[in-house]
Amino acid sequence: TIGMLAIDAKGNISGACTTSGMAFKLHGRVGDSPIIGAGLYIDNEVGGATSTGVGEEVIRNVGSFLVVELMRQGMSPEEACKEAVHRIIRKKPETAKQIQVGFLAINKKGEYGAYAIQDGFSFAVCDTQKQDLLIKGKSFY
Ligand code: ASP
Repeated sequence: TIGMLAIDAKGNISGACTTSGMAFKLHGRVGDSPIIGAGLYIDNEVGGATSTGVGEEVIRNVGSFLVVELMRQGMSPEEACKEAVHRIIRKKPETAKQIQVGFLAINKKGEYGAYAIQDGFSFAVCDTQKQDLLIKGKSFY
């Protein structure tokens, strides 16, 4: 999945995501990416979030909506992504060791963060004021 979040000079947030789906998926499977609230969610009052990884776990936890709601309650983007990942792990601790789920988020202040279950999750930041950055995302394992 490729998830993109953007904030403009007026603080308006938007997002998009695209995916090839999971390898060896069943014909007709619908992943998290086309489901608003799962693979992508934007609330222009709060911020936006997007996900990658095993879509079934993201859908079960309405992951991107959860991240935005956690930011609404005061968490930073990284804290919100981390809590959403921890919720998935808490529900299925044995399965979680085998799978990847990662979230990326931005808030109205332009602060961003990400968190994933497994190591190896990175994201890019494009800022017109600074040079582009490639950031290694934090992870549970
Ligand atoms: N999230 C996608 C899906 O479950 C897979 C991916 O991240 O590549 O369809």
